[in-house]
Parts: sequence; structure tokens; C-alpha cells
Amino acid sequence: MIDLRKQPTLPESYLRAEKLHQAFSVAYASMAASFLLASVLAYIQYDVISHALVLTWWASIFAVTLIRVHLVRNYLQSAKQQTPSNDVWLFGFRLGVVAISILWGSTGFLMFPEQNLPHQLFLIFIIAGLSSAALVSYAADVLSAQIFCSSLLLPLALQLQMQGNSLYAAMSVASVLYLSYIMIWLRHSNKIITENIVLRWLAHAREEAIRVSEERYRLLLNHSPVGIFHFDKELSITYCNEHVAEILHKPTEDITGTKLPTWADAAIIPTLISTLTGRTASYEGPYSNSPDSVNRWIDMSCAPSLNVQGEIIGGIAVIRDSSERKQVEEMLRIGAVAFESQTGIMVTDADSKILRVNQAFTKMTGYSAEEIVGKTPAILGSGRHGQAFFHTMWDDLRSAGFWQGEIWNQHKNGLVSAEWLTISAVTTPDGKITHYVGAYSDITQNKDAIAEIHRLAYYDPLTGLPNRRLLQDRLSQALAASARSGIQAAIMFLDLDNFKTLNDTRGHEAGDRLLVEVAKRLRNIVRETDMIGRLGGDEFVVLLENLGPTAEQAAQTAQQIGDKILSTLSLPYRLDDHEFMCSTSIGIRLFRERETVEELLKHADLAMYQAKSAGRNTLCFFDPAMQTLVTERAALEKDLRRALQNNEFELFYQPQVDSNRVIGAEALLRWKHPQRGWVLPLQFIPLAEKTKLILPIGLWVLDQACLQLCYWKANPLTEDLQLAINVSAYQFQHPDFVAQVKNAVERYRINPLQLKLELTESVMLDNIRHTVKKMQSIRDLGVQFSLDDFGTGYSSLAYLTQLPLDQLKIDRSFVSKLGLKNTDAVIVQTIIGMAQNLALPVIAEGVESQAQWDFLVTQGCPLFQGYLFGKPLPISAFEATLQAPSQAGGKLFPGT
Ligand code: C2E
Ligand code: CA
Ligand code: CA
Repeated sequence: MIDLRKQPTLPESYLRAEKLHQAFSVAYASMAASFLLASVLAYIQYDVISHALVLTWWASIFAVTLIRVHLVRNYLQSAKQQTPSNDVWLFGFRLGVVAISILWGSTGFLMFPEQNLPHQLFLIFIIAGLSSAALVSYAADVLSAQIFCSSLLLPLALQLQMQGNSLYAAMSVASVLYLSYIMIWLRHSNKIITENIVLRWLAHAREEAIRVSEERYRLLLNHSPVGIFHFDKELSITYCNEHVAEILHKPTEDITGTKLPTWADAAIIPTLISTLTGRTASYEGPYSNSPDSVNRWIDMSCAPSLNVQGEIIGGIAVIRDSSERKQVEEMLRIGAVAFESQTGIMVTDADSKILRVNQAFTKMTGYSAEEIVGKTPAILGSGRHGQAFFHTMWDDLRSAGFWQGEIWNQHKNGLVSAEWLTISAVTTPDGKITHYVGAYSDITQNKDAIAEIHRLAYYDPLTGLPNRRLLQDRLSQALAASARSGIQAAIMFLDLDNFKTLNDTRGHEAGDRLLVEVAKRLRNIVRETDMIGRLGGDEFVVLLENLGPTAEQAAQTAQQIGDKILSTLSLPYRLDDHEFMCSTSIGIRLFRERETVEELLKHADLAMYQAKSAGRNTLCFFDPAMQTLVTERAALEKDLRRALQNNEFELFYQPQVDSNRVIGAEALLRWKHPQRGWVLPLQFIPLAEKTKLILPIGLWVLDQACLQLCYWKANPLTEDLQLAINVSAYQFQHPDFVAQVKNAVERYRINPLQLKLELTESVMLDNIRHTVKKMQSIRDLGVQFSLDDFGTGYSSLAYLTQLPLDQLKIDRSFVSKLGLKNTDAVIVQTIIGMAQNLALPVIAEGVESQAQWDFLVTQGCPLFQGYLFGKPLPISAFEATLQAPSQAGGKLFPGT
């Protein structure tokens, strides 16, 4: 601000230039007056003064006046364009004044007519007038005025003095007095001129100062970081700066002139009104008049504005959008509450020096803020973590700005507890770490919840056994442990045989109950330390550890446990009112070296599959050859699907005999594989069952057998032969089976009594009543039934008596061991005895030796089948043996 009370000093040059300008400005008028008076004087004195003199004088005046006019014109013109060089012009001006002064001064002698008083008076009058006019004309330049007036009056005074008359002398004195008076006035009016110039200059200077000040104020207002507006007593806005426009999202032109009470938000009005009573006032609060003002917060201070008389004419308001500050404040408040949460919080600087801890932290660790601030978190060290632990922690913190994990901390009282620690780095916008915030929570609190989560995540909800995840976990631990200790361990893969049948026929609930029962039995069998898990479906896994240092020892123990499992699981299950039988197949994989969990499980699975192929209810150890077998199996499956179309199947016939002749044959399936050659049924029947291909294959066998019986009818050698075919349980259980048999019998018009279906005990796994009913309807057709492989299954006597059977077939395994194992002889004896009691004919299969045959004969077994009497042969070869009875007799019945 410029202080207007401080007088600025006027530059001398300016004053001089101003005066010169004034002198020149009035010069035209004074020159015109001078020339006019000179012409009048010349005209009047013409009669009394020499003509030549008057004319010469007038001409001189005229000439000088012309020159001066020229000078003045030049000056005024140049003054318009630039600042003239004042000294030169002043000199020119004064030269003109001197010239005209000399001419006028000369009139006191040249134009003074001797003895002609009126003309003398006229001259005196003219000179006096001219002098007083000079007072005005030349007042701006004192020197010019002095020269002019002195040049005019002094020669006149001298002339009057020289007249020698007292009156003239008095007039002379009066002239001098007049001159003196003029001189005094001259100074006075020059002073007035100077003062005027100074005043004008001052006024101008002040105006300029005000203008500059106003401009500065305007800039300040417009670029101020706060909004400023003025309002009058009617609360209309008279001025607003750009910032107000920004806050309101409107141009300033639209804001000025509007009445504040018309705005939607009236919250600020009371503050403005109270300003009009002469007080300053302020408002802070929400504000919603701007278009995006959802959560705006402004703060406003107002003061009254007064006019010169001190009356209130309105007010001035300063507003600031403080939404951000408000938000920050809010966040700080929330932060403060959050900081004092239940979680222990520690804040450190970038060098890990502790700056703050909260109450929960103190409660948890026992360290108060005073005790711990300034120290590092190392004070909590429990010594339970190695350097590597902290290395990874810091690596994570530096790279990701975050770390979380379990940490053991020692409290002030020495107690060590596990805490869940989350550390976040606080960074500047350019990524520099300034602080670390650590949040500690005592995880023992969550124990129950964790246990529940753990149970859900790691245990099978149905049986309560560990699930696949936990099992894999434990298995990898067991792997590591046994690799370290060198002590053998084993994994058993269990799969229930025929579980699917139960599920399909009795529903999932029954299936679930069976699984629960299986789990219960398993738990009772295995050792405390062994782990049982359920992989899903009917698949269980048993992990056996500490099986000794050698593989032999380990295999032996595993075998014992496996056998126990097999026998326990094959005991009947009571589900509802029914009894259900279920065997199991087990694959065992021993391990000691570092291997992967997946590999182990895969191998155990393979071994289990092998056990299934080996006839179920058995266990198998994994050996590497199995792997190849499985790969082959996949290829085999592909080929099997095409075998029927390609006509690759053939039936071989093995004779069945009584004491002296062939009474029939068992048809045994052979697959003539284009590359592998003859493939035996054990290698593809399980696969066919699994892929359900057994259904079309079985149908084909049924069809072929009936066709063969049809052919045999035409030949006296064969017309009475009975033909037995093997029927898989899957095939038997098919709803169309009865119809299929009926069809085949009718199609080939065979004697149904000559067709015998060999079933295994596995058909009894299905609903027994249903099975009996089905067998009965087939038997009604005349077709016969033989119970194959008798003695290997569950051989429940209760079932046996219910089934409509025509024959029992003693399994080959007992026959082949006759003479080797006493128990088998007892079994065979028992079976034969039992069959006799039930009035069921019995046939022994797998008779290879004379001794076996003899034993069977002595036990009363009437029928036989086995290599001793003939191997399975293609039809032509089989029939050939029949056509040569003399030869065949020798072959067939060795010893007779
Ligand atoms: P299986 O019904 O017990 O058939 C008897 C098996 O014992 C046959 O094996 C036969 O060749 C063999 N065998 C017979 N006498 C002797 C002997 O004195 N010593 C020895 N070591 N073995 C003897 P094969 O033909 O390999 O058939 C194996 C099994 O495949 C059969 O056992 C049967 O369960 C099944 N099978 C065969 N053909 C069919 C069929 O058409 N349909 C179905 N579903 N299964 C079939
Ligand atoms: Ca058979
Ligand atoms: Ca058999």
C-alpha cells in the first residue's frame, strides 16, 4: 500500500518543463495582443512621428512576431510528440521576449512625440496596459516577464524624467513604482503557478498510487487461495473472486448480482446477516450449493464493510473449501479409535525404532509405552526363529511392503506365545519407507475356530477320517521321516469290491452306512500310530509307519495287517434288516526313499487294481512291472472295444467228465488279438467288466454257446453234451438278462437242459431275494445253474440253501493243493459232504493229477474237469477228441 500522507517530492526538471509549457501555451494570445496594440500605436502615432520611423518599427514588430509564432508552433508540435529539450526552447522563448522587449522598449524614445500630450498619454497608456498584460502572459517565466516589463517601463521612466517638469518627474517615479509593483506581483503569481503545478502533480501521483494499489488488491483477490466475496445490505453479491467461482462451479459474472437468500443452501445466511449488525462472524459446516457438493464442508468468516461516514454498507466474506481437511480430521479420528483396537499395534520408524504402541499391545506383551518406545522389536525376541526367518521377513517387507505370519514373541514376564503378526510398510508417494506398522493378534484365542476350520478342511465329514488333503500332508511328512531314518513305511490303498452294486441297488444311504462301518472297523484294526484316510467314494488309505529296517520285514508286517483288514472287512454288515457282504481289494506300496506323494498313491492304486484283477478280496504289493502292465491295460482297453466287431473272440471247450465219459464241456473265452496272439480271460475280463463291455461280450458267448448246442444236436456224438458258460455278475444283474437267455434258447431251439450257466458267489451280493427270483425265472426255462469257484467267496450257507442251483463247482485252488495241504483236503471233503446233504451234484475243476482224481473219487465226487481230462481247445480240436474215443479214452481216463 502506498502511504498517501507521505509527500512525494516533485522533480525540478518537471516543474521547469511544466512552466515552459504554460509559457508557450499562452504565447499566441500575448503575441496577438502585442501585435494588435503595436498596430494601433503605429496608426495613432503615425501623424505625430516620422512616417518612416513608425513603419520601420511596426515592420520590425511584425517580423519578430512572425518568428515567435513560428517558434511557438514548433514547440507545441514537438511537445505533442516527445519531450522537448527544455533548455533550448526556453532559450528560444526568452530570445523572442528579449527581441520584442527591445522593440517595445524603444517606443519610450521613438514613439514619444515632444509637446503632444494626448499622444504621449496614449503611449503611456499602451505601455502600462502591455506591462500588466505581461504579468499574466509571462508569469510562468519570471525572467522573461522581468526583461519585458523592465524594457517597457524603464526607458519610459527615463524619457519622462528627461522632460524636466515636476509632473513628468512624478510620472517617471510612478512608472518605476508601477514596475516595482509588477515585479512583486510577478513573483507572487509565479509562485501560484508553481503551487498549481505541484498540486496537479501531486494529485496525479496519488491517483497513480491508488491505481497501482487497486490493481495489486485485485490480483491478490483473484489469485487468493480462498474465496472472497462482497455483499451489500440486501445480501446481493457485489463482487466475488475466481476462487468463489471455482467452489460454486459458476462464472463470476453469474455470481455477482445474485441474491444470497435465493441460493438453495441457507446455512450461511445467519452468519452474513449478523455481519450487517456490525460484528464479525464465522460459519463452519456442510455446504451443498455447488453441483458436486455431496460432502462439501466449508469454512467462512465475514466482516462488515463501512463507507466513509462509518455506516455499514454490506460485508466481506472469506470462504474456504475445507472438505479435505475435514476428511483428514475424520480419518485421524477413526485412525485414533482403530489404533486403540483389540489388536496389539506397534509403529516404528524406518530404522525399526519403536515410536508408538497401543493399549492392547501393552496388555498383550506387558511392556508399557514408556518402557518400549525408542527400543526395537528385538526386545520381544523369543530366540525361536533363525536368521533365515527374519531374512525372508525383511525381503518381503522391502519388496512387497508387507509381511504376515506366525511369530513367537517373548513377553515381559518371560512367557513365550504365538502371535499372528502383520507388518505393513508406510511409504511416501515416491515409495520411500517412512514407518512400519505391526499388528499382533494372539492366535491362541482363535484356537477353537481354527480347530473347526481344520476339521472341515482336513477331515471327511462322513467318516470323520482324514481326507485326501491331510493324508497327502501326512504322507509327505512320513516320506521325509522315513527317508531320514531309513525305516520302512507302507501305504495301503483299499477299494471295496461291489460297493457300487450296493449303492445302486440299496441307495446312497445304505452306501454311506457301509462306509461309516468300514471306517469303524479299520480304526479297530490298525495301530494307534497308523493313519487311516478316506480319499473319496469307497477308497481308503492306510499309512503304516515304522515297519522295520528291511523291506522283507516291512512287507511281512504290512501283509499281516492287510490280511487282518481283509478278513475283518469281509464279515457281514448289518444294514437295516439286511445283511450285506463286501470284500476289499488292497494295494500296498512300501517306501523308504524320497519319492513324491503322487507317485506313492499312484503305485498303491496300481497294486490295488492288480489285487482286483487277481480275483478281489485280496492284497497285492506294488512292483515296477505293474506299471508297464497298466500302460498296457490302457492300450488293451482300446483294442477290446473293437474286438467284437473284428470277430476276434473265440470259445474254447474244456471237457467235463463223469467216471467214464465226457458228459459236456465248459466254454472258455479266448481273444485272438491281432498283435498279442491269444489273450487269456483273466487279462481282459476284469477290464471288460469295468468298461461294461462284458455285456455285449457275454451276450456273444451266450449266442455262440447256443449255436454250438444247436450244431451238436445234429451229431449223435455230441447231441447229449451239456455246455457250461461263465456268466459275470454284471451280466446276470442286467435287467434284460432273463429275456436274453430265453431269446437265445428259442432262437437256436436247443434243449435248455443242455445249457448251464456258471455263476460266482458275487451274484449274491445283490439283493438275495431278487437274485433268487431271477435265477428261478431262468431255471423255469429249463436252463441249469452251477455255482462256480465254490469255497473262495463268502460261501454263506444260508444263501446257498436259498439259491436254485443244479451244481456246485469246487474251486481249482482247493483241488490243485490236494495232497499238499491237509486243510484243503478237509475243505474239499466238507464241500462234497455238504453238496450231498443238499442233494446237489458237485464237480471238481482243475484236476491235473491222478492222485487228485483218486482222492476226489474216494470222497464221492462224481464229476470232474481239468487238464487231466483235456485242456480247453478250439471247437474242431475238441470235437476231434470225441471222435476218437479209443484214443481219447486212453487220454481222458488215465489209470482206467
Ligand atoms: P473259471 O470259470 O474258473 O474257468 C476255469 C479256468 O481254469 C480256465 O481258465 C481253465 O483254463 C482253467 N483250468 C481248467 N482246468 C485246469 C487245470 O487242470 N489246471 C489249471 N492250471 N487250470 C485249469 P481260463 O480259461 O483262463 O479262464 C479263466 C476265467 O475267466 C474263468 O475261470 C472264468 O471265470 C473267466 N471266463 C472264461 N470265459 C469266460 C466267459 O465266457 N465269460 C465270463 N464272464 N468269464 C469267463
Ligand atoms: Ca467256470
Ligand atoms: Ca472256476
